[in-house]
Amino acid sequence: DTVIAERMVGLVNNNSVIREMFEEGKRLAGIYGAENVFDFSLGNPSVPAPEELNRAVKDILDEEPSIFVHGYMSNAGYEDVRATIADSINRRFGTSFNQSNIIMTVGAAGGMNVIFKTILNPGDEVLTFSPYFVEYNSYVSNYDGKLVAIDPDTETFQANIEDLERKITPKTKALIINNPNNPTGVVYSEETIKKVAAILDAKQKEYGTEIFIVSDEPYRELAYDGVEVPYITKYYNNTIVGYSFSKSLSLPGERIGYLVIPDEVDDAEQMKTAAAIATRVLGFVNAPSLMQRAVARCIDAKCDVDSYNRNREALYNGLVKLGFECIKPQGAFYLFVKSPVPDEKEFCNVAKKHNVLLVPGSSFKCAGYVRIAYCVSYDTIINSLPRFAEIAQEMGL
Ligand code: PLP
Repeated sequence: DTVIAERMVGLVNNNSVIREMFEEGKRLAGIYGAENVFDFSLGNPSVPAPEELNRAVKDILDEEPSIFVHGYMSNAGYEDVRATIADSINRRFGTSFNQSNIIMTVGAAGGMNVIFKTILNPGDEVLTFSPYFVEYNSYVSNYDGKLVAIDPDTETFQANIEDLERKITPKTKALIINNPNNPTGVVYSEETIKKVAAILDAKQKEYGTEIFIVSDEPYRELAYDGVEVPYITKYYNNTIVGYSFSKSLSLPGERIGYLVIPDEVDDAEQMKTAAAIATRVLGFVNAPSLMQRAVARCIDAKCDVDSYNRNREALYNGLVKLGFECIKPQGAFYLFVKSPVPDEKEFCNVAKKHNVLLVPGSSFKCAGYVRIAYCVSYDTIINSLPRFAEIAQEMGL
């Protein structure tokens, strides 16, 4: 018996799994010392925010009126900030947005809640490619939508186009694409995006419906080997982009991001108005004011992406040498490694005995794999390799 809402009961029970992992890391650090525990479970940036960002915050507080900097503004955000962001996207991707296309959000998570509040009716289906960030389940069910998972293509972890086509129904309202991807680190290519767009276009016609791509892009700037991350609004009209500065500027606690609602989407004017109202009625009211002004002042700054790349190379090469199987990812800060045994929880348990903490793929609806978040110090990567060697040996690799 409980007083909490029925829908929350499942979330509370599931939460304890993640909580347990967190507590386990702390427990192990207490026994063995933090330097002897290799916690690869969290996607929390390990490089500091760029110096420009700190400078910008100080300058804003010195130069701009307090009443303005800390005050309410339009629910969609400060007009000058939104114009700066639109100009930056246009410069980088050859688009032609203006401030009316940008809605400032409380991170990517806030942005996705705003867009699903804006477009979903009860029973609407939202597709996404497995493996996927499980919070999507909540972002969709918060508005009585139903998340439908597309089977993974475990050969490449690119989008499974055949299963996408099979799973689109007259109730499909949106497809979430997360590029670069959490948890696989894969970057969907231009070719993949073109195929996806062609299928959605055909299905919209066939059913006489609108199917939106919601492009979840917190990892856009974390791309390696010079790989291009396609800007999806250029390939498909009904695209809404959800961006976040959480990873690009190492600001996850500050909660700042934006949505792009292009004029090309169906019913764009209504949708922009509705999204600003959704921001208000969900209780965000507006994105954090100081951070809006700060990101606008250093719009083209990035965190130290080279550090993540160094970690990626060292860990990927180290693990493959030990016999582990893994796609070499070109984005984000995750490796998605095949478990040497079918039940990846067994792999996680063996790793834990060696003080290495991994997240089971079933947490991303893709059993048989584990996620390794390499947003840790380079020393942690290097010092973990002997532990992975012990784990490999114990698992018969
Ligand atoms: N989407 C994905 C795929 C993520 O991995 C995360 C955070 O890790 C988010 C959304 C939420 O990001 P934010 O901190 O911008 O809300």
